Amino acid sequence: MKNLQVTGKERECIVAIEELKSNFPPRLSQVAVKLGIKPPTAFVLVRQLEKKGLVEEAKGSIILTSRGKEVYKNIILAHRSLETLLCRAGIPLECACKEAEKIDYLIEPAYAKKLWQYLGKPKNCPHGRPVIPVSV
Ligand SMILES: [Zn+2]
Repeated sequence: MKNLQVTGKERECIVAIEELKSNFPPRLSQVAVKLGIKPPTAFVLVRQLEKKGLVEEAKGSIILTSRGKEVYKNIILAHRSLETLLCRAGIPLECACKEAEKIDYLIEPAYAKKLWQYLGKPKNCPHGRPVIPVSV
């Protein structure tokens, strides 16, 4: 998969949709609350993601499309690998996490995977969350 082509705001929205989904797909108002933005702003963001084919609405709920899920997985792989790298360099975990957020969505999936391999294929990030390699 090539270049993710999402903005920082869209990245936050994709991650929020996936994280909110634990019980059932979230509604727009829940996504807005999670992102700390007003519903009309969330609406615009979701529309943008819909146009990119990453998100779809089903019965008033918002879900990621299969392409959206791929993008999400790549962001998470890049995030957790970068976080691991920064922590190993001596940067405190909370700072490492924030720094990783700034760039995780810009990393080519193939390079995120290379970084993860270079790090010794860690099974978990420093938070203890699983790191799952993606096929690229
Ligand atoms: Zn983590």
